[in-house]
Amino acid sequence: MPTIGVLALQGDVREHARMLEEAGATATAVRRPAELDAVDGLVIPGGESTTMWKLAEIFDMLEPLRLRVKEGLPVYGSCAGMIMLADRIEGGVEGQQTIGGIDMTVRRNAFGRQVDSFESDLTFDGQVVHAVFIRAPWVESVGPEVEVLAVAEPGDRIVAVRQGPLLATSFHPELTGDTRVHEYFVSMVNTVREL
Ligand code: GLN
Repeated sequence: MPTIGVLALQGDVREHARMLEEAGATATAVRRPAELDAVDGLVIPGGESTTMWKLAEIFDMLEPLRLRVKEGLPVYGSCAGMIMLADRIEGGVEGQQTIGGIDMTVRRNAFGRQVDSFESDLTFDGQVVHAVFIRAPWVESVGPEVEVLAVAEPGDRIVAVRQGPLLATSFHPELTGDTRVHEYFVSMVNTVREL
């Protein structure tokens, strides 16, 4: 069984850990570089990307995270986690940095105040998934290496992408009872482990 960490600086860590366990992984909290070294994969939860970025700097985790991503660690980011995996962001606060890794531009709080939170059915990897969006980003543009896995109304915006071992969704599968997105990530992690 793979060991998958959940970055536990801020955000809905427990919900992801529970989904990972249900999807066939051992889940563990990651706050320090040594804990990051010990995992086969990592989930970056939903929460607030500006806070996550600041805490990552305070805990000296930003560079170790960037390094592990460069080395090919499978990482899944949901919502704020998607923002953390973006090479470029729009609507960030002054100086806001990300871990990066996915060649995409992500717009924070993109769906706008009127629709701060909404739910919608969408097709993810050929299957219908009920998606929960909370002050969600969308993906403005992607580079040639990025595979688009899902789009959502309104506007057919890109809300799930994959680039090699990196996966990101604008929505929060950890807040539904549906483990399929986490199962998809666990199988990505298993594929990398078997290489
Ligand atoms: N709006 C938040 C951010 O910019 C993300 C919201 C979420 O993760 N639910 O980080």
